[in-house]
Formats: sequence, C-alpha cells, structure tokens
Amino acid sequence: MKYIYNKIKWILLKYYSKIMKTHTTNKTYAICCSFNKLPYLCLKIMLLRKDIFIKYYLTDENINETVENDEIKIISFEELKKLSENNSINGVILSAAYADHTVNNSIWGRAKKLYRYGIKDVLCIPATLEWTPIYKMAKIDKKNFITDIEQFSEPLVVKFLAYEGCNLNCSGCTHFASINQNPKMMTVDELNKDLLQLKKKFGYIKCIQFLGGEPLMNPQLSLMIKKVRKIFPYAQINVLTNGLLLMNTSKKLLNVLKNKKTLVFITQYKPVTKILPDITTKLDKNRIKYVVTSKIENFRIQYNQNGTGDAVKNFENCPDWACHTIVNGKIGGCYYAGLVKYANIFWNLNIPGEQYMYDLYSDEYTGAQLLKKLTSVTPLCSFCNGIPSPTIPWRCVAKDPVIADWFYN
Ligand code: SF4
Ligand code: SF4
Repeated sequence: MKYIYNKIKWILLKYYSKIMKTHTTNKTYAICCSFNKLPYLCLKIMLLRKDIFIKYYLTDENINETVENDEIKIISFEELKKLSENNSINGVILSAAYADHTVNNSIWGRAKKLYRYGIKDVLCIPATLEWTPIYKMAKIDKKNFITDIEQFSEPLVVKFLAYEGCNLNCSGCTHFASINQNPKMMTVDELNKDLLQLKKKFGYIKCIQFLGGEPLMNPQLSLMIKKVRKIFPYAQINVLTNGLLLMNTSKKLLNVLKNKKTLVFITQYKPVTKILPDITTKLDKNRIKYVVTSKIENFRIQYNQNGTGDAVKNFENCPDWACHTIVNGKIGGCYYAGLVKYANIFWNLNIPGEQYMYDLYSDEYTGAQLLKKLTSVTPLCSFCNGIPSPTIPWRCVAKDPVIADWFYN
C-alpha cells in the first residue's frame, strides 16, 4: 500500500513539473513543508498561482527518500544561502501546517531565519490549504491562500472558554477556574457571532479549542462543535478536559465528537487516573480520537505579582504564546490577559490584563495586523515566571485558596 501511495505521489510531482515547464514564469521558489505533502502542495500552488515554479525542497532534516524527479532538488539552509547570493532563487514558501508551536519554529520564527539567509520574498500558505482536498479547491475563497508573511493571517490556536468554572478546582489553575466566583457559561449564539467575526477577520484558523474550566460542563457543547465545523470546515477541533465527565457523556455528544472529527485531549490528574481505562474503552468503542497526557503530579506556579520576570525570555520559552483566547468578544495573545481579572478580584491585585485584549469587532486592525500583535511579547509576560518555574504538588483547592499556589515572588 505504502509503495502504491509513494508511486502516486511522485507521478503527481512529475505531472506538476511537466505542466510548469510549459508556463513562462521564471520565478523560482523553494518550499518548506512536510516531505510527504510535497507533490500535493505543488499541485495546489499551481492551481492558485501560475507565476510560481517550485524548484527546491528546503529542509534541515535528513531525507532518506529521493525525489524521483529531476526538477525538484532537496536543499539545506546553507545551500539556500548560496542560491540567494547567486540570485538563483526568488523566494521561499513556508507551510503553516509544517511549522510547530515554538516561537522559533513557528511560521514567523522561520521567516526571520530566512531573512537572515538573505531571502527577501517569504510567502506563506495556511494549514487550511494543506487540509483542503484538491477537488474542493474550486469552491474556496482563495484570496488569503498564498500571502507574503506580512499579510499572513491564520492564527495557530484560538481558544473558547465553554465554561469558566470547573468540577475539579485545582490549586494553581492557570485559568483561575477554581477561584472564579461567577463563572460564565458560553452560549451558542455568542460563539456563532464570534466565529463569524473571526472568519471575517482572519479567513482561516489552524486549530480551535474548547476548554474552560471544564468544557464538558457546558450542556451545549455538541451544538458548539457543529458550529465550528460548519464555519471552519478544515480547522482542527480540540476539546481539552480533565476527563471526569466523559463517562456520563451523552450519546449525542459522542456522535458529534466522532462525526465532526474532534480530538479529545485529556489532562490526567489523579482523580481521572482511576477511571481512565473505562474512559478510553468508551472513546475507542465510539471511535473518538483522543490523547491522554502523562500523570500530572506537580503544578507550575506560573505567575508573579510584581512583573519582575524577563518578558522576552518568558515569551520565547512559553508553550502558550500562540493560544489566543476569546473572552467576551475580545481576543488576547494568551489566556492570561483575559483571565487575570479573576485573580485581581479574588486577591485584590492590580495585574494589567485588559489592555492586552483586542476587540474582535473593531476595524482598527486588519487580521494580519491583529495577529502580529497577538503573537508579540507584551509587558504582561513579565508577570509570568517562565520555564523552569517553582512547582507545588497537584491538589484540589481546600476551603481557602492560597495565593502562593498561583503567584511566586
Ligand atoms: S482541571 Fe484544569 S481547568 Fe479545572 S481547575 Fe484544574 S487546571 Fe483548572
Ligand atoms: S503572558 Fe506571555 S509568558 Fe505569560 S503565558 Fe502569556 S504569552 Fe506566555
């Protein structure tokens, strides 16, 4: 089977090269994408832009396979530098699906590296392009599909807080669910409005997540997943849960999770470990995709009250720098900006958050400008402790939550 798949792959690439030879373009590009996706992406790009001829596959990895095609050569970054010095290449196309979630290997991090190598023309293709089947491409809005990095507007992750409260109440919860005295339950109408506005603003989103608090506490979660799938047909959809309610999940929700290709991401705290085999059996039986983290024994004390952290260093090492979070029609770079207000209320603190939230409905910024703001370091990052941070053993909040479990300094 793998042999046949590989054969088809290289036949497609030959077909691509043959057609491109008949075009009069002399604009030569390298592409940085998953090696497996190379032929399909070349074909998709050809359907969108007749002026681009992909001649190189750019990678730092050791590819054992050879490209069965004389037209596309595998090159390293060093070889790219030489091509750029000889003016033998016009630019590089970066695939957002291939970029990872670290600051340096994100699409923006890779673009910066290419600028250092003398490449001036950096084009990006959203993950959505990679995930749209070729036969459906005629139907899609192609306007944002190949853009220069400055115009790139596909967020990596957008998070919706389906319910801000939680049934587990961990001490040190980074979303402050366990100290939230008036947790909000999101409605389908609110979500629908925000999704349509996101679509208008950004066009595409790589991954949309439901979390909280505990998202399974929202009785309308199945309708919400359906809305996302309708408005963003090719986005990844994840539900992040502590798993405790999965044994009581309705058949309706189980069907939606399966049919709408939603990934259930279970964070494994102590109470769920005991029932985990039952949960995974149930998910397997219903053919629902899931991931379970390793056991969480300790909690990172993520925040500090005085803003004494190294903002740039914290941001560059932050696993959550691209987890843009929606709270009341506003979007923040990460969850801290929108949720710190609950810590401010509970302990009478004054940590700035609101000023780093942007109105999704304002025309002040285009999608690309807004995304640039959301993916940049802010002074709020100095109110984080960065990695490594001090830790506490995981536990549920007893009667009186202690501030030292959330803030260290
Ligand atoms: S399970 Fe997650 S959301 Fe709930 S209190 Fe614990 S850390 Fe917070
Ligand atoms: S404030 Fe900055 S460092 Fe802290 S979680 Fe958000 S992005 Fe990360």
